[in-house]
Formats: sequence, structure tokens, C-alpha cells
Amino acid sequence: MKKRWVSAVAVCLLTACAVSPTGRKQLLLMGNNDVAQMGLSSFQQIKEQEQISTDPQQNHYVQCVAQAITRAIPAQYSATNPGQWEVVVFDSDDVNAFALPGGRIGVYTGLLKVTQNQDQLAAVIGHEVSHVLAQHSNERLSQKQVANIGMSAADQLLKNTTTKAPAMAALGMGVQYGVLMPYSRAHETEADVLGLQLMAVAGFNPQESVSLWHNMASASKGSAPLEILSTHPSDQTRIKELQSLVPRVLPMYQQAQTNGVRPQCAG
Ligand SMILES: [Zn+2]
Repeated sequence: MKKRWVSAVAVCLLTACAVSPTGRKQLLLMGNNDVAQMGLSSFQQIKEQEQISTDPQQNHYVQCVAQAITRAIPAQYSATNPGQWEVVVFDSDDVNAFALPGGRIGVYTGLLKVTQNQDQLAAVIGHEVSHVLAQHSNERLSQKQVANIGMSAADQLLKNTTTKAPAMAALGMGVQYGVLMPYSRAHETEADVLGLQLMAVAGFNPQESVSLWHNMASASKGSAPLEILSTHPSDQTRIKELQSLVPRVLPMYQQAQTNGVRPQCAG
């Protein structure tokens, strides 16, 4: 572990050190365009594998929430915010959602049974979009390059279309693609911090994020594990952390309300 850290620092000094939205040092070895390309090709692959929902009401609802969130992205994220985000609803009982670099959002209809209102759905989408804005895929791929396979080998890996699994895992795609690479605690916290800001600015009640994760916890006590929890580990610590973060973003939510930013996404 120590060795890995030392080599990451060495690479960091030589090349590509950045600072994340919450002030962490990030190792980013990939170009934004390359990561976006990986996101786009993964999304294409998922669209070919999954059933796409044609239910107009469901599509309208998810689009309405997702577009409200992406419209709230501040200008400082222009490098990772393509402006236009494609949003697809997948007809599946999986309780899952994801966002990919390049501006793609996928929501599974199973999630709509666990989220009780538009604010809770916004909490999930805000969190997922935040992973993209904070370049977590790039960071995960960069860490993997340094830790496991060496940088030239990683280049080969990403060019080789037959071995997409590690790239998919780094993008946050989980068990259904045969690889599991959960987000780290640091990434989860960062996506929660940023996600809360996005939902508050977009006019969704950030307090609902706490209820959402309570729902997730109860739903996961059922027979099947929730897909989203396999890549986004969740526990009581996270819920407590969210509770302490909510008061910081409430003024943004109140401001949005005052300005008439009040999404009405029927669900
Ligand atoms: Zn996450």
C-alpha cells in the first residue's frame, strides 16, 4: 500500500496532479476527451444490452429531473460538462442509475420504486453526475495504471476493444458487467457534497437525500441486493454525514425557491 502511494506521488509530481472540487489532490493521467469517449462507448454498449423504456410518463419524469440537475451545473465544471446530457430510462427491476463521462445518464425503472418523490430521484442523479464532474473515472483509471499495470500497458488496455471490463468498472459500472469496483469513501463523500449542491441549486429539497438513503437501506434488507449499493457503498456513516451536510446547502435551496426555481416533475 505504501509503495503504491509513493509511486502515485512520484507520477503526480512529474505529470498530472489536479485538485478535486472538495480540495483533494487528484492524479489525472487521462485526457478528458479520452475518458468521454470511453463513457460514450460504454453507454452505447449498455443501450444495446438493456431494454429501453418507451413509457412516456416515466421518460418525461426522469428527463425532467435529470435536465433540472444538469442545468444547475456551475460554469467551473465546463471541462467535464458537455452541456447537453442524453438521458435514457432502462426498463429493468434493477435498483440502479449511473452517469458517464461524455454526458450520459441512465436510470433503471427499479430505482423509481425506491425513490418516493422527485427530490429523492434528484438526489441519486445529482450524486451520479457529481462523480462525472469530479473526474472520478479518470482518477480511478489513473490509480489503476500506476498501481497495477504500468502506464504503457494501460494505454494498450484502453485501446483494446475486447477488454472493456476494467474501463467499465472504472466508470462505475458494476456487477452486471462482471466486474466490481466500488467507489472509495473519498469519492462517495465528494459526490454527496457536490450532489447536494446540485440538487439544492436545481430547486430540489436536499433533506430528501437522507430519506432516500434510509429507503435504500430498508430496500436492501429484502431478498436481492441493490445494484446501486454495489458500486456506491452506503452505511449509517454516510447517512450521518449527509445529515450534517444538508444545513450547508439549505440556503441554496431556499434561494432557488425564492427565485421561482421549483421543478414540477410529475411522478
Ligand atoms: Zn457514488
